[in-house]
Formats: sequence, structure tokens, C-alpha cells
Amino acid sequence: MMRGPYAARVESCIGPDVMTYDAQALAFDRLGRGAAPALVDPFGREITYLRVSVTDRCDFRCVYCMSENMAFLPKADLLSLEELDRLCSAFITRGVRKLRLTGGEPLVRRGIMTLFASLSRHLATGTLDELTLTTNGSQLPKYAAELFGHGVRRINVSLDTLDPDKFRAITRWGELDKVLAGIDAAQAAGLKVKINAVALKGVNEDEFPALLEWAHGRGMELTLIEVMPLGDVGEGRLDQYIPLSIVRARLGERFTLTDIDYRTGGPARYVNVAETGGRLGFITPLTHNFCESCNRVRVTCTGTLYMCLGQEDAADLRTPLRASEGNDLLEAAIEEAISRKPKGHDFVIDRRHQRPALSRHMSVTGG
Ligand code: SAM
Ligand code: SF4
Repeated sequence: MMRGPYAARVESCIGPDVMTYDAQALAFDRLGRGAAPALVDPFGREITYLRVSVTDRCDFRCVYCMSENMAFLPKADLLSLEELDRLCSAFITRGVRKLRLTGGEPLVRRGIMTLFASLSRHLATGTLDELTLTTNGSQLPKYAAELFGHGVRRINVSLDTLDPDKFRAITRWGELDKVLAGIDAAQAAGLKVKINAVALKGVNEDEFPALLEWAHGRGMELTLIEVMPLGDVGEGRLDQYIPLSIVRARLGERFTLTDIDYRTGGPARYVNVAETGGRLGFITPLTHNFCESCNRVRVTCTGTLYMCLGQEDAADLRTPLRASEGNDLLEAAIEEAISRKPKGHDFVIDRRHQRPALSRHMSVTGG
């Protein structure tokens, strides 16, 4: 088998240690492991999309995501970069074609570029279609070009407002200028950028027309996200929640929105915006059930596999990962977990108790 350009770049970036993984991947392929059976859940859905949280830490403290005084996990609980590589690679061997690194803020994890570099070998061998990330954008001025070099082509950047004061209020610690510079750097490096904005009642709900025109004007897709009841963030969820049906109806008064059949296997539904010629997505977990076409699972930075974002059921992959150098135990644990993937979720904002339906934060599961 030919070694592709990414593999060569990996070697030059990170040296022979991590290349042993590349050698392993090639050996797997030679042994025909590339033909290992796909992961199919009890409802016939093939798992082709993996999201991995590489850290629970972040340089922001967004009001809907974290409390100001978050207690983070001890370092020893986190998977090492090598373990993350092994875990992702095991999923890729079993048919995952799209891999998204997230967090917390993935770009604040020390050494994260070595993980992108090593994972890019799967792009080179053609076993992975897409390596991507979701980021708050603050570190993109530093990393955008390197990400492109490791085969990343599209990224999601979370940005809820273009108003510097509101931005500071939402993120608590963030600076709008840095994120805008990050978006500039990403586009300059050749990365396609999609903007994700969480709709927050009374905070940014008046800004969506401006955000839409700005994003589409720069050739970026925009997706609006309904706030989800995940984790205690020290503020009432009902205060934050605005249904996207209302946002969409208001946008419809200003723009011509046409439903389109574009699907990514995920929770977003899309419209074309005639005035801008761009695409607008709506992610509405609370008002629309998107589970029937779900092709994804999530792994936390401690190696816990969540088969569904909206359910508590999970599988520990760290124990089998650390139990042996080979991947047999790990693969068996993954298979067993996928056989338990539920049909769908049942998010509820508990109005009586004003508490989240799920106790874990989005920064733990990975958005
Ligand atoms: N730090 C990165 C970022 O902000 O893009 C990646 C992780 S963040 C948890 C991923 C996405 O989850 C972001 O777009 C964020 O806005 C979204 N998110 C976090 N908490 C949320 C919540 N409670 N409801 C809806 N979306 C949420
Ligand atoms: Fe950090 Fe992203 Fe959560 Fe904001 S949404 S606190 S940027 S992990």
C-alpha cells in the first residue's frame, strides 16, 4: 500500500513513536481488518460518525454550558493522546467515516496537534472521509494553518453574537475580537467555516438577521441551536430557552426561507435563504425528534461512550482500552455498547424543579 502525503507529514511532525500507530493501521489493512463488520445498532442504523471530547476544559465559561466555577476532571482520568488515537482508530476500523474532535475546547488540550497529525493517516488511507472539529475559535489564529495541513477542511465555530459586550456576557471569559481573528485565520488557511449559534431568550434573539447576513456574506453556513437542558450551569434553563419555531417564524418575515432536503444524519434541518443565497440550519432537540436517522455516538475525554446525547446510558471504554495493548477487548466493548443504542431521546426541561433533564454538561459529552 502506498503511504499518502498525510502519513509522511505525520512522520515529519511527530516522529517515529506515534508512527507505530500508522504502521499498525497499515498492518491492520494488510490483515484485512479494514473489512471488519460495520457497527449497526438494533434499529439498523449504521454508526459512521464519532464525536470525541478531548478535554473537559475550556478558556470560556459560556452561560448555557458551564458554571463559572467548574470543577474539572483530574488529569489521570483523561485519556492520553495516544489512547484517544487508539480509540478513534478502533471506531474507524469498524466503519466510522467522520470524526469530530470537540470538548470543552479541543484546541486548549496540550499537544492536540499531534493527535490531528496522527489521525490524519486515516484520511491518507481513505478509511476516513472527514476529520473535523467544533471550536470556540479563540485558538484558531494559532492553529488554523496547521489544522489544514493535517487534512481538516471544514470546521464548526461557535459564535452567538457579534456584539462584544454580549459576547463577554455569554462567554463570561471570551473576547469577540480574538474569535473574529480566528475565523479570519481559518478562512485564510482554506478552511470552510460553519457558524453555530445557540438561541438565547432575551440575549441574542434580536440579532439573528444580522448574524445571518454576516455569515452568509462571508460564505459561511449558519446553524441555530436550541438550548438543551444539560448540566447545572447555575442559571434557570427556562430563562434561556426560546423555541426555534419562533425564531424561524420571525426570520421568515424578513427572509424567504425554503425548506430543503439537505441532511447530515444529525439533528439539523435546513432552509435556503433566497436573499443571501446561503443555507441556514435549525437544531431543535426539544421541539423536534431527530433520532430516526441518527448515525452518531459520542465519547468523553475519559473514554465513556454515550450512545445517545439525550440518555444517561453509557459504556466505559477506558477500562478495556487500558487492559491490554491489543484492541480486541475495546472492540468487544464498543460492539456491546452499540447493541444498546436507544431508539431516541427524551429531553425534558423539568419545569417544576427547574433542573436539567440530564446531569452532565455538554462540555463533558462534547457538543
Ligand atoms: N468549545 C467548543 C465550542 O464552543 O464550539 C466545542 C464544545 S461546545 C460544548 C459544542 C457546542 O455545544 C457549542 O456550539 C455550544 O454552543 C453548544 N452547547 C453547549 N452547551 C449547550 C446547551 N446547553 N444547549 C445547546 N448547545 C450547547
Ligand atoms: Fe467552552 Fe464551548 Fe462550553 Fe463555551 S460552549 S464554555 S466555548 S466548551
